Amino acid sequence: MLTQPAPASHAAAPPPSGHRLDMDGIRVRYGQSIAVENVTLSVEPGEILALLGPSGCGKTTLLRTVAGFIRPEAGQVLVDGAPVQHLPPGRRGVGIVFQSYALFPHMTAAENVAYGLEARRRPRAEIQRRVEAALAAVRMEAYAQRRPAALSGGQQQRVALARALAIEPAILLLDEPFAALDRALRLDLQMEIKRIQRRFGVTTVLVTHDQDEAMSMADRMAVMRSGRVEQVAAPATVYDAPASPFVAGFVGTSNRLHGRVEARQGAEYRIRLDVGASILLPGARGFAVGERVLVCARPEHLVLCDAAMETPESWPARLRLSLPIGPALVHDVEAGATEMKLHAARQGAPPPPGPVRVALLPTARPALFPAGDEA
Ligand code: ATP
Repeated sequence: MLTQPAPASHAAAPPPSGHRLDMDGIRVRYGQSIAVENVTLSVEPGEILALLGPSGCGKTTLLRTVAGFIRPEAGQVLVDGAPVQHLPPGRRGVGIVFQSYALFPHMTAAENVAYGLEARRRPRAEIQRRVEAALAAVRMEAYAQRRPAALSGGQQQRVALARALAIEPAILLLDEPFAALDRALRLDLQMEIKRIQRRFGVTTVLVTHDQDEAMSMADRMAVMRSGRVEQVAAPATVYDAPASPFVAGFVGTSNRLHGRVEARQGAEYRIRLDVGASILLPGARGFAVGERVLVCARPEHLVLCDAAMETPESWPARLRLSLPIGPALVHDVEAGATEMKLHAARQGAPPPPGPVRVALLPTARPALFPAGDEA
């Protein structure tokens, strides 16, 4: 793989040579507690799938199960359709990069990268060629003879990536590989990994609790909660059409507005919001008239209006604060006990705090859930 990269002009599209990974009905238990419950996920050849979720939701456990460090109580892991359950980690064709660099401190960068190949007893000339190619892929060839202590965090993580790639893995597993890096370095390495992953078309699973990282790196993301997958879809779909209030709140900011269905109008529902407005929304599933519902509106779905512009579709609120963040203005608003965040383009001076009205933009399509889905 490393010796035959795709031409640079094709770098954006993964070559079709990658391998397919399936997790089929995986359940993992630690003593009495279940850490992963009935997870079925497929990763297509050359795809990056991000496992995203809060601390303790089972991301690392699932990744370690794929790697072969954990034996699941039920379910199986398949590479290209073949179960790998019986194989130890070293024979599953997986390359792993951990959060902590996990380089051997007494070895040079080149020796670290060579380690996995030597363990596989590859011929000396092949080892040398693959080590050089792997270090070049992560742009670390000039540091081949340095020990980890003489490398920065980002450089150590590049060497760790080279080590994982050198064995030409069928599957690349990345466990929070950027967590120990500062923001600028993290962005650098994220782009680097994406570039290398695209170039070699290696099927990748990335564990992260950082939604921005998952959004920017992944082709699809699986949002996990308490050992289960709540949604698996492309990042834009997860953002625009979250499968649950939890997903809406975990990926992006979600303003929660409670209300009741007043009437059905064709494919839309008229909803009386508790904050004191009546809005019309399409619903992906059926709701009964009178049913309590939850509207999860993104900050860019809502707009600030003049307090004097009273309309049935807008509701009274109080602007507490407006913060300029880059090209945007973030308004912090309260309507009774309901707090909201609104995004607007920054134009001129921010409005002063005080009474305002808030309305849903006519083009906005916030997610609508039965109130019982909120947890
Ligand atoms: P984080 O983002 O904090 O790393 P995670 O989503 O990767 O979290 P896991 O590390 O997979 O979560 O842990 C899932 C659950 O299993 C947690 O409740 C955790 O406390 C528990 N757990 C993890 N490892 C063990 C272990 N070796 N023994 C017992 N329980 C464990």
